[in-house]
Amino acid sequence: MTNYLVVGAGLFGATFAYEAAKRGHQVKVIEKRNHIAGNIYTKEVAGIQVHQYGAHIFHTTNKKIWDYVHQFADFNRYTNTPIANYHGEIYNLPFNMNTFNKLWGVVTPEQALAKIDEQRAVLHGKKPENLEEQAISLVGTDIYQKLIKGYTEKQWGRSAKELPAFIIRRLPVRLTYDNNYFNDPYQGIPIGGYTQIVEKMLANDAITVETETDFFEHQEEYLKNYDKVVFTGMIDQYFDYCYGELEYRSLQFETEELDQDNFQGNAVVNYTDAKTPFTRIIEHKHFEFGKGDKHKTIITREYPKTWHRGDEPYYPVNNSANNALYKKYKELADTKAGNVIFGGRLGQYRYYNMDQVIGAALVTVEKELD
Ligand code: FAD
Ligand code: UDP
Repeated sequence: MTNYLVVGAGLFGATFAYEAAKRGHQVKVIEKRNHIAGNIYTKEVAGIQVHQYGAHIFHTTNKKIWDYVHQFADFNRYTNTPIANYHGEIYNLPFNMNTFNKLWGVVTPEQALAKIDEQRAVLHGKKPENLEEQAISLVGTDIYQKLIKGYTEKQWGRSAKELPAFIIRRLPVRLTYDNNYFNDPYQGIPIGGYTQIVEKMLANDAITVETETDFFEHQEEYLKNYDKVVFTGMIDQYFDYCYGELEYRSLQFETEELDQDNFQGNAVVNYTDAKTPFTRIIEHKHFEFGKGDKHKTIITREYPKTWHRGDEPYYPVNNSANNALYKKYKELADTKAGNVIFGGRLGQYRYYNMDQVIGAALVTVEKELD
């Protein structure tokens, strides 16, 4: 039997804790926030599950992970169909025939493709090397200007020319009239919210949980008292930023309770112009098909901001400079960190979705426990 300390009660930490306890190990979970579940934390207000850290839609191609997460919640059939608001003009996302029709009046896939081909000619066949080139190559210059450039540069706080191409490849481009934001065969929102998933994962007598507890306040003691540590905080902070800071993007959430039933008619509306300071507004009740108080709705505006020490590091900025720096920290982790395992979005410095975090935690479980 091993005595584990898990740092961070997010999805990675909770998955590891659940699997370790199931195998008869003792686990202590510490979490610096005043609640469990990390960024997937949801809280019920006026009968509505409020996503406290931005819209979370579970989607995966992996049947095993879909089945795995169903141990802890039932899911509704929510399909993400966000819309973009560009100076009051509304477009469907992801980029599909509805978008192309509204923008260009084209009706058939062939006409849409011809228009995209005409616009991507500005690249002269060059292989896309950054987000701007990748976007133009996928959908042409009009969509890049109206729906991508402003949003992206607000979100990441830098020119789209300085961002990696993979970020925009997260979004499908379709020559069909299909507004589903994801290609994955499995998608939904847990009925009753996400927090229950982590609650159930941690509901084992072999697991104790302590919130409002920061690892760095008693680091030496923890390292001495536990056989192994699973650390899901920032890897650069763990090593006291000895090679310098990795970059993150932070966010500020502004949540409002409104005395009306329906504010925007959709769960997610992106504001893709450069001027509007927020990137999106989510209206939480639409994740659950109009559940909740009929006279109230709750909306959250999401303002991107530069991360400084002490802010919440929501997104790793995986450009080549940061990835190279992460590699140095990873080498340190592999050679000098003794009994510490690093995991999750911050511990592995990866733009992981929830299903990928569960997948990564299960890989760690397999290596460590099986
Ligand atoms: P976290 O949830 O960040 O958990 C890490 C925990 O460790 C945190 O609770 C933190 O407080 C704690 N911690 C850190 N340092 C310390 C310390 N020193 N001591 C104690 N505790 C510490 N994924 C999807 O699949 N679909 C989506 O629609 C989606 N939308 C997203 C929207 C936003 C705005 C964001 C930011 C992310 C989104 N994600 C989405 C990604 C998803 O949130 C992550 O994949 C997942 O939550 C990561 O889990 P984690 O355990 O790695 O990290
Ligand atoms: N994006 C965009 N316009 C949009 C939505 C997304 O340009 O209306 C770009 C932007 O660069 C963003 C990336 O696509 O960072 C990935 O979008 P996704 O919705 O996956 O972002 P997340 O939900 O992870 O913030």
